[in-house]
Amino acid sequence: MGRSAKLPLVFVFAIACADSTETPGAGTSSGDPSTGAAETTGTASTTEPGASSSTGTTEVDTGGCTACLAWESCVDAMCELAPGRCGADEDCGRGQHCDPDHACACDEGLFANAGKCVDRILFALPMDNVDGAHIGNVIGVDNDPAIGQSDLDCVSYDGEPFPRCYDNHTGTDFLLKGGFAAMDSGSAAVFAAADGEVVFVHDGEYDRCALDLQVQAVRCEDGGPVTPPNEITVLHADGVSTRYLHLKKNSILVAEGDVVTCGQSLALVGSSGNSSAPHLHFEVEGVEGEPVDPFAGPYSQPETYWAEQDGADGLPGAACQ
Ligand SMILES: [Zn+2]
Repeated sequence: MGRSAKLPLVFVFAIACADSTETPGAGTSSGDPSTGAAETTGTASTTEPGASSSTGTTEVDTGGCTACLAWESCVDAMCELAPGRCGADEDCGRGQHCDPDHACACDEGLFANAGKCVDRILFALPMDNVDGAHIGNVIGVDNDPAIGQSDLDCVSYDGEPFPRCYDNHTGTDFLLKGGFAAMDSGSAAVFAAADGEVVFVHDGEYDRCALDLQVQAVRCEDGGPVTPPNEITVLHADGVSTRYLHLKKNSILVAEGDVVTCGQSLALVGSSGNSSAPHLHFEVEGVEGEPVDPFAGPYSQPETYWAEQDGADGLPGAACQ
């Protein structure tokens, strides 16, 4: 699935999935600086002792408060920091500072994800699997650089052969349990694996492409050739991207330029493009655009890209970093 022209033989295993819980990430609290609505009272023009306007910042009279700063709001007649705003570095969390717009920002070398500043962005399970309802088999990245004679010539991150991977596969496939019947009865949500910006969207393609056993090839509409997949690419703050492929036609909920938070619904699982059955092809691309196996292992790389690589049901954890 992915960009490889090769085809996996898809086995729809029913993995016994018990009690996976899905925890969409609470997004960062980006406060609304406009909440400290100025309310003019008759006394407004007579205030100001000690209120420093020497910094050139705007003071806002907010009812019972005499002079709140622009990044403060009046709560019970007291000036308090407005949600999502800061007055000084001390108002921000670890690894953060107060930027000139009075919003907390990550220190240099750290990246924002799921309300924290981290040195590497790690990913949550990118597909809904509450109660193990949706994800069947998982087919991973091929860590054997050689192009083999067949799909079977592959090595997974932990040294396993097909069907844990297939030859030249550059992503991780999460198969939809129940196949096309499940897709037709609501499918499953695809989630942003981390905070980021949507940088590519393609939708509108036929989404019932399937493996034609007679010719051992994927066929799309009317048995025709493979069409492009419906897909989304999200760029994360550390320069790593995630791609979500084979989405259900017209299910994409975001547009290029949208900022998304970890756990946000992006689309539904489908079978568009070079796809033999409904599944999500989740691909991680490094800062140079190179495909990366998100799973750490002796055959991939030492540092996992998952917030929790070995979570419930043998899948990466659903919680955000
Ligand atoms: Zn794939």
